[in-house]
Amino acid sequence: MSLKSLFEKPAPPPASGKAYPLTFLGCGSAFNTVLGNNSAYLKLGDDLLLIDCGGDVLPKLVKLHVFDGVRKVHIFITHLHSDHAGGLGNTILYLSSKILRHEPRKICLYHPDRQIVDFLRMQGVVEDTHYTMYVNLWDELFLDDEYAWHPEYYFKPTKHVPTLEGHVWGLDLKMGNEFHLFFSGDTCEWNPDCYDMTEYTAVYQEITEKDNPVHFTYERLLQVTKNFTADEKKRITLMHFDDDFDFERAQTDGFSCAKAQLTLEDLYQ
Ligand SMILES: [Zn+2]
Ligand SMILES: [Zn+2]
Repeated sequence: MSLKSLFEKPAPPPASGKAYPLTFLGCGSAFNTVLGNNSAYLKLGDDLLLIDCGGDVLPKLVKLHVFDGVRKVHIFITHLHSDHAGGLGNTILYLSSKILRHEPRKICLYHPDRQIVDFLRMQGVVEDTHYTMYVNLWDELFLDDEYAWHPEYYFKPTKHVPTLEGHVWGLDLKMGNEFHLFFSGDTCEWNPDCYDMTEYTAVYQEITEKDNPVHFTYERLLQVTKNFTADEKKRITLMHFDDDFDFERAQTDGFSCAKAQLTLEDLYQ
């Protein structure tokens, strides 16, 4: 064995070839009372990654048995609007009392602003008693299960309503060669990193029909993607729909659309 080979990094493990799309619990905008609050999850072995947790998210998680077999939960919050964080306190308390009993280290909350700790404490949900807070913009995720890759997250600051200026983020999630996702959260912008779609396996982008200064308009999407290939457009999944969204046109134009696992009508049947 040569001395040099001792210092060479081992080759990275090959990608598993599995698809890692997000599953949507709901895909509506704040006032969409059919498609519900926009929220999505991904399961990696016994770890559950949940992105945003509006007021109607917990009953869907329970009804769909999403917590079955879960040993660790990672919750990412893009901003504190009620349709994204209104169900967070109750979901943490449910996890703490019924699923991951008295194991705050197994209930991980990711948000780049510690004001969320006050937001939860006023609801009787307490850091280190019920959950563990991770406030970094970037970090690796430590999964309970053994994986060849550590997922990494990166909160990308973005613009949304003036009243939440500086407190709104999109979420970039990457796991080695396995996947690289971007979830826009609520925004009026296209993430500049996603002009080059070769880097991303999937981009989840909020969308609105109306001319709107705080959300991302369909017209703007057409401008941004005018030179994208058909495959690149298909890897853009639109979400956070108003009740007048034209799904047929979006599909004809080559985009994918998020589909809610349960509508609010299904939920209460
Ligand atoms: Zn929203
Ligand atoms: Zn919002």
